[in-house]
Amino acid sequence: VKFVYDFTEGNKDLKDLLGGKGANLAEMTNLGLPVPPGFTITTEACKTYLDSGEEPAELRDEVSAHLDALEAKMGKKLGQADNPLLVSVRSGAKFSMPGMMDTVLNIGLSDKSVQGLAKQAGDDRFAWDSYRRLIQMFGKTVLGVDGELFEDALDAAKAAKKVTVDTELEAADLKKLVTKFKKIVKTEAGRDFPQDPREQMDLAIKAVFDSWNGDRAKLYRRQERIPHDLGTAVNVCSMVFGNLGPDSGTGVAFTRDPASGHQGVYGDYLQNAQGEDVVAGIRNTVPLAELERIDKKSYDQLMQIMETLENHYKDLCDIEFTIERGQLWMLQTRVGKRTAGAAFRIATQLVDQGLIDEAEALTRVNGAQLAQLMFPRFDDSAKVEQVGRGIAASPGAAVGKAVFDSYTAVKWSRSGEKVILIRRETNPDDLDGMIAAEGILTSRGGKTSHAAVVARGMGKTCVCGAEELEVDTKRRRMTVPGGHVVEEGDVVSIDGSSGKVYLGEVPVVPSPVVEYFEGRMHPGADDADELVEAVHRMMAFADRKRRLRVRANADNAEDALRARRFGAQGIGLCRTEHMFLGDRRELVERLILADTEAEREESLKGLLPLQKQDFVELFEAMDGLPVTIRLLDPPLHEFLPDITELSVRVALAESRQEPHENELRLLQAVHRLHEQNPMLGLRGVRLGLVIPGLFTMQVRAIAEAAAERKAAKGDPRAEIMIPLVGTVQELEIVREEADKVIAEVEEATGTSLKLSIGTMIELPRAALTAGQIAEAAQFFSFGTNDLTQTVWGFSRDDVEASFFTAYLEKGIFGVSPFETIDKDGVGSLVKLAAKAGRETRPDLKLGVCGEHGGDPESVHFFHEVGLDYVSCSPFRIPVARLEAGRAAV
Ligand code: PEP
Ligand code: MG
Repeated sequence: VKFVYDFTEGNKDLKDLLGGKGANLAEMTNLGLPVPPGFTITTEACKTYLDSGEEPAELRDEVSAHLDALEAKMGKKLGQADNPLLVSVRSGAKFSMPGMMDTVLNIGLSDKSVQGLAKQAGDDRFAWDSYRRLIQMFGKTVLGVDGELFEDALDAAKAAKKVTVDTELEAADLKKLVTKFKKIVKTEAGRDFPQDPREQMDLAIKAVFDSWNGDRAKLYRRQERIPHDLGTAVNVCSMVFGNLGPDSGTGVAFTRDPASGHQGVYGDYLQNAQGEDVVAGIRNTVPLAELERIDKKSYDQLMQIMETLENHYKDLCDIEFTIERGQLWMLQTRVGKRTAGAAFRIATQLVDQGLIDEAEALTRVNGAQLAQLMFPRFDDSAKVEQVGRGIAASPGAAVGKAVFDSYTAVKWSRSGEKVILIRRETNPDDLDGMIAAEGILTSRGGKTSHAAVVARGMGKTCVCGAEELEVDTKRRRMTVPGGHVVEEGDVVSIDGSSGKVYLGEVPVVPSPVVEYFEGRMHPGADDADELVEAVHRMMAFADRKRRLRVRANADNAEDALRARRFGAQGIGLCRTEHMFLGDRRELVERLILADTEAEREESLKGLLPLQKQDFVELFEAMDGLPVTIRLLDPPLHEFLPDITELSVRVALAESRQEPHENELRLLQAVHRLHEQNPMLGLRGVRLGLVIPGLFTMQVRAIAEAAAERKAAKGDPRAEIMIPLVGTVQELEIVREEADKVIAEVEEATGTSLKLSIGTMIELPRAALTAGQIAEAAQFFSFGTNDLTQTVWGFSRDDVEASFFTAYLEKGIFGVSPFETIDKDGVGSLVKLAAKAGRETRPDLKLGVCGEHGGDPESVHFFHEVGLDYVSCSPFRIPVARLEAGRAAV
């Protein structure tokens, strides 16, 4: 194997091996763009090192060979005393993990070469500043010295000189600081700062490898669902300097606005600064457009390069660059992160520009982004007290209590509080606080600051660089213009789409995208915004492409109508037990508890007309589309009075000598029916088989409702679904009774109803005997909630609160199997049952109605295994449509 690639050897498709940064540096090199020469150590080398604890034997020789070539190209040697080659050692994994792993700059400086650098650059201050940065970065990331010790020493040096910014320190001060820094290293790390440049480089490479398994990196990967076994590549790149004076600088740029998708000049530039200064948001930058005034030649060249890159990648790119004494260098590019709204707009813009086709456009957006666009926004007409405005870094409307540190953010959010994390600027240590918060507000930093980049990645609302807010994290408060003080716990509202910051709770209004799906905003109309236009077109692309049909889980006409507006092609699950919550619950309770035939008949008679009316409304709402009605499936504990509460009531009545016969009778019945494990108890088809007349009453209600709709010239398409079937015998008994009732209704009304009868597959035994079950079922609908519960043996009501956090933390699974289908376990049962079912009955209709039906990743799986439709809650229908289209690309 080859562990090291020169930038001239790689290309953008080698991200697995070279990481994103390395692959794109190679791509830019091959495009003839000005990239400082260097080489990339592969992720394979990292994996070998992490697995065995040792670097692969060949690595050292390969690095030597590539370093020799680099030195020859540059005409100087690493750390050479009179004219040193300096390199940066940067991490770069397949997926971008901003700031989560290590980077060391200025490798090659030593007590000797710092003098050479000073002479070559003609700038003492610059050389000593570079050296102190190296010791500081190296000490912290490679040798594990507490970074604050360096910060404190730097502050002390500034204080001693009575200055406030680093740039006011002179060469002599920095020289003293270097001595101080070296002492810190010696005491804290127990060794000298290495003077041998090659040793510096080798140690830095190892530190980057190790940083793959740092806590921050691991947490970030869990959050972003990045696999833990990819490893990082390491880029060794010759240094160029943005801090060599006013004709030098460093910046970041986007080929389009990552917030709106508009073409133009977007980015930040910082004169006389080194790379990390911009991303860290430490000093305030100027807009990129200013560069035209500062250095027209470099600006024009940069614009040219940006156009080249966008046409080459056919997408929005983001870029890091440095100008060293008037010479432009490209340090990084990648297909840039963008807001959800911009993703939709850019995809359609690129189609219009003829750069990509519809199918490709679908790969540029995803269901999670669409879901994000369906969040509400702040009400413009509300009376608000705006106290500041920062940069709209990541859209959304967030309201919560102000907290000023990550620890509190996590603590408060665990106890159910909504919080806004307010910081001067964030750094990677704030990650868990950012995850816990509703939104993030900073007073410093631009669109490319840590807070902005990470928040956008997480889809979290963020306003950054709100400079007029004075954040005092030590005293946990923020002073707003005019002097009002926001204390920890005060409610604030932030708008990540406008950058506005408000005191108190601002009311929110629905998103325009939801207004569009609801039919209240029309694409093409004057007031329709660009975003709605783009979403409308992308949905059309998806609908043209997808094979999967999308249905809704809905139990009433209102939900059904909304689902239909959102594009549902039927109802995949009407849970009839939901029709008996509230007032009607008592009727079901009475039915379950009835001990005489007469009582039972009585309550069934009460239920029939109610059920029939429910169905009439549902069929009307869904006229012409299939409606799958599931017969009653109530876990008994959800329908019976609570046993403890009832016992107390009885005891109380007894002690007060009040009449309590009814309560007593109820208590006895509840005792009789009490189950230790109701989820595995008397529910679904079991209940139907045990309580005579229950299922037939429901079938009769369905049949009569369908007949009534037919008589009214409607087009009802009812499908009757039997829950929790484990064996074909259960289904056969229910079917026989149902067929009889349907025939009776058909006879009595003189209509042919064409009702189909099918089953849920939600028990492992049903999946394993699907071939037999298909004999008696015209369709299957996979109940992946119960199937996940029974395949894993996880109680769906309990696990999320009990041990899932530990499981997620230990990486046993990256996401709850109740959220995203467990392909290997539950998924293989689905696959197997689908196949066996279709072998028995080739026209067997297959769907899924568990929560997974609206989960993006699961939708792709259901497409792959050949289901006919997915069914999900009304609000997730657009997401399912989009993902079904994406799955078919
Ligand atoms: C299921 O089990 O996946 C299902 C859809 O049924 P319920 O959630 O009502 O048990
Ligand atoms: Mg179920």
